[in-house]
Formats: sequence, structure tokens, C-alpha cells
Amino acid sequence: MTVRTRIAPSPTGDPHVGTAYIALFNLCFARQHGGQFILRIEDTDRVRSTAESEQMILDSLRWLGLEWDEGPDVGGPHGPYRQSERGDIYAQYAQELLDAGHAFKCYRTAEELDELREARKEAGLQLAFKPADLKLDEAEVARREQENWPYVVRMNVPSEGVCVVKDMLRGTIEVEWAQIDAQVLLKSDGMPTYHLANVVDDHLMGITHVLRGEEWINSAPKHQLLYDYFGWEMPELCHMPLLRNPDKSKLSKRKNPTSINYYRRMGFLPQAVTNYLGRMGWSMPDEREKFSLADMMAEFDIQRVSLGGPVFDLEKLTWLNGVYIREDLDDEALLKALREWAFNDAYVKQILPQVRPRVETLSQVMPLAGHFFSGLPALSESDFESVKLEKEELVKLLQFLVWRFETVSAWHKEALLEEVKALAAHFDLKMKAFLAPVFIAITGSTSSTSVMDAMAILGSDVTRARLRSAIEVLGGVSKKQLKRFEKEYRDL
Ligand code: GLU
Repeated sequence: MTVRTRIAPSPTGDPHVGTAYIALFNLCFARQHGGQFILRIEDTDRVRSTAESEQMILDSLRWLGLEWDEGPDVGGPHGPYRQSERGDIYAQYAQELLDAGHAFKCYRTAEELDELREARKEAGLQLAFKPADLKLDEAEVARREQENWPYVVRMNVPSEGVCVVKDMLRGTIEVEWAQIDAQVLLKSDGMPTYHLANVVDDHLMGITHVLRGEEWINSAPKHQLLYDYFGWEMPELCHMPLLRNPDKSKLSKRKNPTSINYYRRMGFLPQAVTNYLGRMGWSMPDEREKFSLADMMAEFDIQRVSLGGPVFDLEKLTWLNGVYIREDLDDEALLKALREWAFNDAYVKQILPQVRPRVETLSQVMPLAGHFFSGLPALSESDFESVKLEKEELVKLLQFLVWRFETVSAWHKEALLEEVKALAAHFDLKMKAFLAPVFIAITGSTSSTSVMDAMAILGSDVTRARLRSAIEVLGGVSKKQLKRFEKEYRDL
């Protein structure tokens, strides 16, 4: 048997460090067994999936050195590798389940489902919908069918008993069937849900081992049942521990930068980031902290993964990055790294229009545009003295902007301008007054290049990190304030 692993990211946002972490372990597992590693794009959510996000995922994994053998860009014998291009395949398998009585068409409306949910809640029952709850009598089904009501296809699931799933790290996991929904497999638009598409693709693509985040454990019983229904052998499952913030909460972009773009923009070296991700719940047999991807592949043993939530600690990563710069990069390599990072034509050319109208000598360029080549500006509270706002109002303004920017999917100046305008109106401020503190937070000074252009060029991650850092400099947001802010923000 050839070992085949995969990752199946959904292209719905920034390339997440969690995706890279799972990719790394899948890649090492495959290589260590002389197998193959596949990249599949799970873009069945047509509203949230974007081509830019897919491209960023591919770029950032490649930047980290995590190469795949088959995928949407490199092709392979089991394509297409984008789920949106495999619609016919899923429809065919859903029909197979319907024909065999393992699935049923569900004509329930959203209102009916809400009522059912309420009724179950009041009766103190499990909230999972079981087939028996959802089924309508035959005449009603026939009527709705005839009148062309929209429907979804759901899988049949047992009502009682315990489902036992095997996991490579956890042994057996037991989940009561009572907790498991009659999962939707095909949505009313004919698109498959994650569950159907995932099982069908893993089977057709010959995946033998599924290493994925532990948030998918609860899906495993449904998947196992689908494999049974189809009469297919299930790949071995391995649920990896989730990455955590230093306070042990789940790694989230509200607390820590989670996008690989951020680390790239901040000037981390790919080999250091990959090395650090390899330390997430795993260690080399000799426990050394610094190792290459090739070393990790050679020594990899999945059983050395420990389940205690690995902490993704920016300080440790920064330390490790420094070790790489000092120990591994001679002048030639350091120069190359700098060029790849920011001193290249593509990046510098974006900055030239910003500096040209504002300088008289070339030596004025760096003092003016230094913020394009730096991380977080060194600010203190007094730098905001010129801003004519109460401190709480000032912090709120920055916080609201961070939240608005989190929702911007296509990061360009016009989109940012819209957010800024909307918020300026909310704070009843002229654009200039609204932007004054933003300017300081982003450029680190009160006079520099245009802040709107700077944010567009710096990108979402660095921009948000600088705004967050300014909030911290101003004393941060207390729990009480956060509650107030969140309420006001919701009502915007
Ligand atoms: N699309 C899922 C994700 O984004 C894939 C989960 C899996 O690996 O089964 O994580």
C-alpha cells in the first residue's frame, strides 16, 4: 500500500498557520513512508471561497517549503483537485445513497427546523436532528416534491447506541449516536457539504491516512458511517491537537497573528517558521529545537505527537528565527533573504509613487518610508498627544477599525476607504480627524506618506497588527470596555 495523505483547506480567508502545521505533519508522514502528499481545495462554500485566498494558500505553503505531489496547480491522476469542479461526482454518490435508502430528501423549511429545535430544547432532548424527527408523511413529501419545494439530501443515522471511531493517537473515541445529526449531504443548491465531498474525495483520491485538526473529531462518526454505506475502506484517522495561544485558548486572530502572510511580511524566515511548526506537539528524538524539514522527514514518527495543546508562542518563534539568521545565513544568504523579503523590485516599486512627491534628495527616502520596511513601530502613549480625542474614544476607534478590517476580504485601497468612511461617520469625525491616530499607529509618526496607501501596501496582517499594537501602547482594552465596545459595534 502506498501511503497517501492530504490537506483540504477551504479558501475562505488568510492562509492560516494551522493549515501549514497540518500540512507539515501530513507531508512528513507521507514522506517517511515513501508516500505522496496531496493538496485539495475544499471550495464548496461558494459564497466565502475566493480565488485570491486559494492563491495565497498555495503561495504560502510553497514559501514554507511544503511541496505537494498532486494539486489544483500541479495536476495529477485524481483531479480535478478543486471540489467546485467535482459537482457531478458528488451528485452521483448522493443518488447512490438515496437509492440504497441510506439517505433521504428532506423538504423541511427553515421555520420548521427552528420550531423542531425549540420543541426539542423545551423537552430537554438532545438537539441533534434525527431522521425520525425530520421525516414527513409520504403524502406531504409527494406534495412538496410535486410543487418543486427546495430540498436537501440528508444521511440516515442511528438514534441510539455508541459509535466507536479509531484514532491513531487517541486510541478509540466513543460518541453517542444520539448526539449525531441526520447530516445534510447535499444542499438545496445541489452543492455537497463538507462531509459528503470529503469522504467521496478521500476515497477516490486513494487517501490512506487523514491527519487533521481535532475540531473534526465529532465529524468522524458520520464519515465512518458514510464509508460503511458506500462499502469503502475508511482511511486511518489522526486528529492533531489544536494550536493554542500562550494563555491556552485556541489560537485566534483576535489574540495573535494567525496568517502566514503576517510572518512573511514581518521578515520571518520560512525555514524557521516550518521548524517552529514542527515543534508543535512534536519533538526530535534528541529533543533539539533547531532542525530542518529534511531532518524532520527523516526522523518523523507520528506516535511522538503529544496531545497536550501545543502553544504557538511568538516570542519563541522570534528567538528561533534569530538563531537561524545568526547561525545559518552568511552575508550572501542574508542579502538574498532581505531581497526576497522587501528589497525587491515588486515591493519597492509600490513605494516609489508614495515617496516621489515628498522628497528632494534620495537620502530623505528612508526616514520617510522606513515604516514600509519595519515591523511594529516603537510608539509610546505620548506619541498620540496631538490627537484630540478622549483616550477611551481613541482606543475604541482603533479597535473598531481592527474589527472592520478583519472582515475585508479583498484588501485594496477603495475597500479600506469604505470602512474608514463608515466608521468616521459613526464617530462623527471628519476623515482627517479620524485618520490622525490611525496615521500614527501605522506610520509611527505624525508626518509621513499617505496612510491609506500605506495600509493598502502593507497588507491586512501588518496593518491590523500595528493598530493592535497601538491599542496596547494606549493601555489596551479592559474586559469591561470590551463588553461595551462589542455592544456598540454590534449595533453599528
Ligand atoms: N476543509 C477542512 C478544513 O478547512 C478540511 C478538514 C479535513 O481535513 O477533513 O480544515
